[in-house]
Amino acid sequence: MSLKKVASPSGPVRSVYVHAPFCARRCFYCDFAVTVSREGDLAGWLRALEWELKLVDEEGYFSPGKELKTLFVGGGTPSLFDPGAMTALGRLLGRDRLNGADLEWTAEANPESLTRSVAQGWAQAGVNRVSIGVQSFQPHALRWLERLHGPEEGATAVERAREAGISNLSLDLIFGLPEGVERDWGRDLDSALALKVPHLSLYGLSAEKGTPLARAIEEGEVSSPHDESYREQFLEASARLTSEGYRHYEVSNFALPGFEARHNRACWESAPYVGLGNSAHSFRAPRRRWNLRDWKAYRMASLEGGSPWDSEEELSPEDARLERIWLGLRTDRGVRTGDLKPAARALVEGWVSKGDATLADGALRLTPTGWLLLDHMVVELDLAQG
Ligand code: SF4
Repeated sequence: MSLKKVASPSGPVRSVYVHAPFCARRCFYCDFAVTVSREGDLAGWLRALEWELKLVDEEGYFSPGKELKTLFVGGGTPSLFDPGAMTALGRLLGRDRLNGADLEWTAEANPESLTRSVAQGWAQAGVNRVSIGVQSFQPHALRWLERLHGPEEGATAVERAREAGISNLSLDLIFGLPEGVERDWGRDLDSALALKVPHLSLYGLSAEKGTPLARAIEEGEVSSPHDESYREQFLEASARLTSEGYRHYEVSNFALPGFEARHNRACWESAPYVGLGNSAHSFRAPRRRWNLRDWKAYRMASLEGGSPWDSEEELSPEDARLERIWLGLRTDRGVRTGDLKPAARALVEGWVSKGDATLADGALRLTPTGWLLLDHMVVELDLAQG
């Protein structure tokens, strides 16, 4: 793909995502761009990012002198790298971009690799939010998911982050496991609540094409995740966590007041962002660009002075409208209803009467039962409004 200057800028980029592609083992259900490696290739990763950053800077994506508001290092498993990795990444991005007093710098960790020294190294670098992939606190579920950590390690990771001085923590939990997998969802919610972290992300298991999980289902070795238990567990979590003071502010996310994920919020509000690393996406309305998915191809591009970018698209006004509806309805900010056409208004009133949505303060918002039908409702609304 050719390199060109950014057209139609939509404001300065203040959010960056960096993909760390290495995991010590691939989990049974995972379809992310992951390379299995015991420690990760930190030097190769930094070199490749440096190359991409140089190209992005040349394009004029960043505004000189503008500090970032959010930086999210996801994966993969960023905690696989040695403790100095975030300091090195910070140096590469440029400390002047990371000097803002209100920078939210999140890094993702897996419990088994968030050691004391990694947590301390991250805190020293300026990481001030850690998202920990706990998934479950129960041994059978963890084994079935092929996670590398044991049932106690989620709590240990939380303790290590706190000892290092990072208290803005999020835990990921996975629900909707197939019948036959021994797992008590209510007890996992209890365990998460007991840790008193300010943010929780809950993801329903899905069998993505090409994963070992999808193959096992096709071959009849594993039963498909069950729609009814998926629904029950999602609604149970929503009711339970909101009764404990968390806001269900996005379909998969819950936060105590003041602890919403600002990076994700920026993406849901269509703010421009840059994604660095293999498989990362960048967005600057109306253009979206994505990087080479494969780590080796991405690294090779950097070594050969080639383009790390795979492709890009320009959103048509229709696509942009659909995306606005989708992004709006997945959060509790909803979509404005001022310009709803009669067919769309009738549709929405039907949702409200079924309890799947609310209309208040000039906005349409989905309820948890509505969120279970999110994709379907977005398309229906777009057609009615179109
Ligand atoms: S730790 Fe996360 S990114 Fe790595 S293989 Fe497991 S699910 Fe995928």
